[in-house]
Amino acid sequence: MDRPRAQRTAKLALDPGDELIHRFAGGGPRAGRTTADALAAVAAIAADARAVVLAVAQPGRRDDLAALIAAAARPVTIECEAAGLDAALVRRLADAGVVGLRIVHGGMRERVFEAVMRAPGAWRAAAAGLAAALAGPLPVELVVPVLAWNRDDVVPLIDWVLALPGQVARVALAVPRAADVPVDARRHLLDHPAVAALAAEAFARLQAARVGFGFDGSDAPWPCAAGDRLDRFATVWHDALRRAASEPDRALTPIAACARCALAGTCRGVEPAYLGAFGDAGLAPVPEARAAAWRLRPTRGGGEVEYAQISPFTNVAAGAGRALIRINGHCQMACAFCFVDRGVGDLPAATVLATIERLATTQRDHVVFSGGEPTLHPELPRFIAHARACGFATVEIQTNGVRASDRAYAAALVAAGLTKATVSLHSMDPATSDAITRMPGAFPRTVAGLHHLAALGVDAQLAHVISKDNYQALPAFTTAMLDEFAGAGRRLSVCFAIAQRISDLVPRWVLPTFTEIRPYVRAALDACDARGVGYGGLIGQGGYPPCVLSGDLRYHRGVLDKVYASTDADAQFAKAPQCARCDFDRACLGVRRDYLAQHGDAELVPFRIARATDSDSGAGSDSDSGSGMESASP
Ligand code: SF4
Ligand code: SF4
Repeated sequence: MDRPRAQRTAKLALDPGDELIHRFAGGGPRAGRTTADALAAVAAIAADARAVVLAVAQPGRRDDLAALIAAAARPVTIECEAAGLDAALVRRLADAGVVGLRIVHGGMRERVFEAVMRAPGAWRAAAAGLAAALAGPLPVELVVPVLAWNRDDVVPLIDWVLALPGQVARVALAVPRAADVPVDARRHLLDHPAVAALAAEAFARLQAARVGFGFDGSDAPWPCAAGDRLDRFATVWHDALRRAASEPDRALTPIAACARCALAGTCRGVEPAYLGAFGDAGLAPVPEARAAAWRLRPTRGGGEVEYAQISPFTNVAAGAGRALIRINGHCQMACAFCFVDRGVGDLPAATVLATIERLATTQRDHVVFSGGEPTLHPELPRFIAHARACGFATVEIQTNGVRASDRAYAAALVAAGLTKATVSLHSMDPATSDAITRMPGAFPRTVAGLHHLAALGVDAQLAHVISKDNYQALPAFTTAMLDEFAGAGRRLSVCFAIAQRISDLVPRWVLPTFTEIRPYVRAALDACDARGVGYGGLIGQGGYPPCVLSGDLRYHRGVLDKVYASTDADAQFAKAPQCARCDFDRACLGVRRDYLAQHGDAELVPFRIARATDSDSGAGSDSDSGSGMESASP
């Protein structure tokens, strides 16, 4: 199996000492590296990096830039200021192989911009340069240092950029570290509660515009500074905490609030330099419920290239395949167990269309459009139609169903060629469902959406994520769900998915144990069997090997030869030593490594398959009433 490649993005300053987000503190253009020095430095940093950022305030002034880009031999992004950019320069950079621009911009008003960027007289040129970049062929990430000076400029700047021709790919708010700022310049910093409030307003605007958002790099406000303001954008802290953990020499110190904070143990504290400037005013312990819902998970920092997770699934046993394309990260919902970075905006249509064509060269059985929420992407009908034109037999969306509550929209998807929809629904109680998705009023829209899709002839499947919050309600959920959806003539199947590990907190707070869920899952599956409704999502990537249900193969018939394994399955799953005595060993992926680390392997009890199974019979068939299982001898 493939292992993930190196994820690191390495950055090289071609003008050492001229860090653009710290210009406000007194930096400014300095003498740049010589070509020989820069070439050696690029080669050194690129050696173990997946991608390279070359920071150069004025890329037009370096004649050797094309050579440096070539020397990187990696995808290169240029970080620069906007002044000096024009259409011809942006085109030259694209022709040289640059894959994107990170443009640092300080504010909307002339006085503010010039103070933040220390660039007297450059305001008009910067505005023109930014507009030229957005109109050009390269994806643009706008980086805005957040300071006391420009706190009233950040949202107007975003609004202005969103209104320009062309589309900004992502807007990142840069939070300067107090320790990196001279003491006499720290008065220009913004306290972190104020940063969080500003970020909440900015991120909401960007999400509404389907543009990527987040904090720049690894620095974000202290989680304890945010209250509930950033709950809907909660992955933003992960990189900050991870980076802090990987910087043992960074000066961080606990504060009084840490003693009662759920992140203590993950978070090392606050910069003493920040405390010197602002004290701990507004820093309150993070409660467990909030931390669990914040989905503190590894992120890749956003960006199209880093986010385009094209996950080919192969069905080795059946020789069939499935491919999944995530076309955005945004979602109207904010489920705690979701593993997708909601800060990522829409993938460009050209990228998705090319990906569909590439995937169609290897298999044309099944392609899935996922997100985020794929129905938020305005080009989804075009993607579906293109997939069908490329020959895919099954074209599926993974959706929360909300947009399909508009019957005309659902019909447009079906007219484009949609054949299957997997709709997430985690409770049949409206209040509980809306609490889980954190989208008030979503439940009836999801239900209506699923009805519309099913009535239009789409193979409709429910995705139900089992967590500590809802596993005991599983039988009741199943009965209510079957009453609501399993009407005559409808094709409906149910998959029960286990919440994936998305942070150190998930195993402890979100994942129930196999022993806890066993009776409830059995009752739910028995109810499906009694109504002739199929189910799936258990074995394989779903994370429930047959021994979880005591090796009762009735619950897995029809899918025993269809165990999906993603290319990184061996990194995610592991077996126990006793698995070698299990008749299912060869077909079984095992259990998620995080589960084993948390709960051990005592629940994995090998079994013997007593007789041939009805692996060809469909799930829900009543042709096999025997379990086909007996315990293996110890
Ligand atoms: S552990 Fe301390 S510094 Fe970290 S978020 Fe909690 S209260 Fe803040
Ligand atoms: S191989 Fe191991 S994990 Fe898989 S079903 Fe058998 S005992 Fe369980």
